[in-house]
Amino acid sequence: MPQALSTDVLIVGAGVAGLWLNARLRRQGFATVLVENGGLGGGQTLKSQGIIHGGAKYALHGALTGASEAIATMPRRWREALSGQGDIDLGNVRVLSEAHYLWSPGTLAGNLTSFFASRAVRGRVDQVKGQDLPPALQNPAFKGKVYRLAELVMDVPSLLLQLANLAGDSLLAGQSIKPLLEQDELVGLRVDGREIRAQRIVLSAGAGNAEVLEALGLTHPAMQRRPLHMVMVKAATLKPLYAHCLGVGTKPRITITTHPAANGQWVWYLGGEIAEADGVAREPAEQIAIAREELTQLLPWVDLSQAQWETLRVDRAEPLQSGLTRPDNAFLAEQQRLLVGWPTKLALAPDFADRVLASFTRDGLQPGEYPPLPELPRPPLALPVWDELLP
Ligand SMILES: Cc1cc2nc3c(=O)[nH]c(=O)nc-3n(C[C@H](O)[C@H](O)[C@H](O)COP(=O)(O)OP(=O)(O)OC[C@H]3O[C@@H](n4cnc5c(N)ncnc54)[C@H](O)[C@@H]3O)c2cc1C
Repeated sequence: MPQALSTDVLIVGAGVAGLWLNARLRRQGFATVLVENGGLGGGQTLKSQGIIHGGAKYALHGALTGASEAIATMPRRWREALSGQGDIDLGNVRVLSEAHYLWSPGTLAGNLTSFFASRAVRGRVDQVKGQDLPPALQNPAFKGKVYRLAELVMDVPSLLLQLANLAGDSLLAGQSIKPLLEQDELVGLRVDGREIRAQRIVLSAGAGNAEVLEALGLTHPAMQRRPLHMVMVKAATLKPLYAHCLGVGTKPRITITTHPAANGQWVWYLGGEIAEADGVAREPAEQIAIAREELTQLLPWVDLSQAQWETLRVDRAEPLQSGLTRPDNAFLAEQQRLLVGWPTKLALAPDFADRVLASFTRDGLQPGEYPPLPELPRPPLALPVWDELLP
């Protein structure tokens, strides 16, 4: 029987939400244990595009209501962390791009007119031309308009490495989770048979939250999955590009981010509308054919003849919502000692931690005294998806 433990906060799920929260709590002197049943970041986090949205994209369809949304402050919060002045120290983390771009192929489309008229966007975007264009768009054949958004793009593998370092000895590889009850009250969890008592238990297991809740005999908060069918393309001819390419609708027709692959080549990772409903319904070969057609049409000067292609199906996990509204805040629900949530975006990890800490402050929760943790079985870091799929 593994040694029983006691801690202030027991967190389940080591994606960006659990790891960021863990780093922040440890910095404030709380004792923590963070349980992970796979590789660190191997859920949605390492499959994300790494964009630290400030919400500009949502102004395209009028969903951003203004400064009240936490998302508007997230680029600043991440920049502070990257400069070592924020809630946690991300000083060693690689930023792939200081900006994300909005790219309208052809002439100024109607949707951009209302976009630039919206209050949320005014003063936050600048048009770029010539040598200031993203490298992949610097070609005499390029026609279109490009605007710079003050939104960072993170190298997620290096982010995870730093968050794992900040976790110190608190990480625990664990598969089976059962409730630890005292007089019908949840006082901790039994992880692979090990009793772990805690003042608070936080579930940040992404798509795994539903299953952990079920193991605890709970049905709320309810979760929804939003399936995506992403495309990856790797070729020696690719140059960096971080952009939402606009189509006729209100959603980016394609969102391209660029990531370093193991052998020094770049991978373009394609999301946006292409990866949503119609894209989800397509078989991988068909999805690749559509992506190739799109890129050939948008960037005819890029030689894709030797490119390697792959697709990735992955679900975004979110709280169940009515209608089509997308949250621009992290979500957290509380039931006594148990807190359950989804950041809903990588960018909102700081907001998720804020919400947990606000709950602790409201309840007057203070760090306790515990013996040092024994050496615990440590979960491995997950690999970037392109290294697995496009070796
Ligand atoms: C294709 C795609 C692109 C995206 N792009 C962006 C973007 O550009 N910008 C942005 O802001 N957001 C983006 N997102 C959203 C973002 O990735 C997620 O909101 C965020 O990563 C969620 O983090 P998380 O820690 O809650 O979940 P996850 O990263 O899914 O982590 C949950 C962890 O819990 C673990 N776990 C699950 N069940 C258990 C269990 N029973 N016991 C122990 N551990 C368990 C999992 O193994 C996993 O490591 C994207 C998402 C997808 C899918």
